Amino acid sequence: MEYKCSVCGKHIKDDLMVYIHHTEKHIADQIHADHPDWTEKGGLCRKCVEYYRNEIKGKTSGEG
Ligand SMILES: [Zn+2]
Repeated sequence: MEYKCSVCGKHIKDDLMVYIHHTEKHIADQIHADHPDWTEKGGLCRKCVEYYRNEIKGKTSGEG
C-alpha cells in the first residue's frame, strides 16, 4: 500500500512511514510551523524526519 507524505507530497510505501514519538515533540512542532495542515497522526516519510532532525540539531547546538 502506498502512502502520501503530507510534508513533501511524495508517495511512499506504507511501511516506510514514520510517526513522531512524543519524546520528539519538538520535531512535530517544527513540522507544524512549516506545514500547518500536517498532523502527527498523519506521519511522514523518513527523509522528512531526518531533515527535521538535522534542522533541530543545527538550531539547538548553534547560536540563536
Ligand atoms: Zn516526506
